[in-house]
Amino acid sequence: MFKPEKFKGKKACVLGFGRSGLQAAALLARHGFEVLISEDHSSSRIPLADLPSGIELETGGHSGRVFACGFIVKSPGIFPKSAVLKEARKRKIPVFSELEVALAFVAKGVCILAVSGTNGKTTTTTLLGEILKEYCRQLAPARRVFVAGNIGTPVSVVADELKAKDFLVIEVSSYQLEDSTFLRPKVACLLNITPDHLDHHGGMKNYVKAKARLFKNQRANDFVVLNGGDAYCVQLAPGLKGELQAFSAQPNHALKTDVFFDGDEIIFSQGDRLRPPKLQGIHNVENAMAAALCALAVRVPAAVIQHVFNRFEPMEHRIEPFAYHHGVVYVNDSKATNLDSTIIALKSFERTPHIWLILGGRDKGASYEVLLPYLKDYCKGVLSIGECMDKIERELHDSFPIMRCGTLDKAVDYALAHAQKGDIVLLSPACASFDQFADFEQRGRVFKKLVHERIKSQRIGKEIKQTPQTN
Ligand code: ADP
Repeated sequence: MFKPEKFKGKKACVLGFGRSGLQAAALLARHGFEVLISEDHSSSRIPLADLPSGIELETGGHSGRVFACGFIVKSPGIFPKSAVLKEARKRKIPVFSELEVALAFVAKGVCILAVSGTNGKTTTTTLLGEILKEYCRQLAPARRVFVAGNIGTPVSVVADELKAKDFLVIEVSSYQLEDSTFLRPKVACLLNITPDHLDHHGGMKNYVKAKARLFKNQRANDFVVLNGGDAYCVQLAPGLKGELQAFSAQPNHALKTDVFFDGDEIIFSQGDRLRPPKLQGIHNVENAMAAALCALAVRVPAAVIQHVFNRFEPMEHRIEPFAYHHGVVYVNDSKATNLDSTIIALKSFERTPHIWLILGGRDKGASYEVLLPYLKDYCKGVLSIGECMDKIERELHDSFPIMRCGTLDKAVDYALAHAQKGDIVLLSPACASFDQFADFEQRGRVFKKLVHERIKSQRIGKEIKQTPQTN
């Protein structure tokens, strides 16, 4: 456990000059620690100007200076088996995660709600944050809500600002959980566990073990919100200490649930009924159930939750319909960076072959063959892009029409030329974006821009054709 008093006077080494590394370093520096940031790559997306004065930086590799430090703070992306961490362990230098360090500076009495899972974290964390903000606005104006973690703002940014009774909603990834020893959420929510990031964790067993750390320090007066229809979540249930609330929107679930969905309303065992937000897909009903159970656990009235559900809009890059043209709907699901998310997205539409699916990017190791039954049920064609086009073709081509497009540009051209009234053009790539884009957000924004531009130029083209020629 990181205790600032125990390490007073010792120099900190932060591994990784990314967003959370920078903020962990800044937090430690604010609290009087000498800090060295050590970055393996020779460049970073963080401008040097953002580095607070007094913090040392080395790039292009980890030197012996790392091991002269009294403790190490690891950014979430650092590989657990990396040479630098192995050497640190050999030399018995304590290693902490950014989250662990940040939490050590959070005031006592802050109400922490943590959300994790393979998919749905950002949606559920955002919904829960909105519900708590509305609750504070209506009923508890002295309390404040901070939403942080994997969602974008590292906990290190807000750690110093929090006061007793404030709410801290944290989106926690498996990378942040793998070396967490300190986290004790009042409410811990695990949405689902499906294979992802397996190369980082070294297999499914370690991935599940990392997720289980969310609950490790909870006690009997804490709360657990768990997916009762998810086999891996169900496995964890017997060892949990907090009060368990299970959810599932599926009719078949192994764990007795405290809430169910009748196709129209979410019905809670204690009697409340809520209409879920207008978001595409049954998975979003589950996200809504999870957010509601977390909020109810900290005594937010159902009416406040309903108020937020009523006004909640689809989130950017997550099955986000953004354009309608000639009866075709264009949907941006750039956040779908694994096969499971793409399957979820396909299943959220009507089960008839009417989708042009833009698929591909940087491969994550799994086989695309799992998509086949869904492609047959929901899709007219696959437009392949990115580094893994050959693999997609090899695995799917004999059974399903694949159009090799290479770039998003070409895929959009193909889709606009072939999609007919009633069709959907869906970017749900099942892959990472880093082969052609900075991140999934950029990929989604480029997709939307390309579609809007093409639609506009088609409209202008039509107007030019229709304008009578005058001589
Ligand atoms: P995360 O932050 O965990 O990546 P997001 O809320 O950003 O999750 O959603 C990303 C994608 O994951 C969505 O576009 C959807 O395809 C899928 N997804 C969202 N919620 C769920 C869920 N509860 N179960 C399974 N898949 C989901």
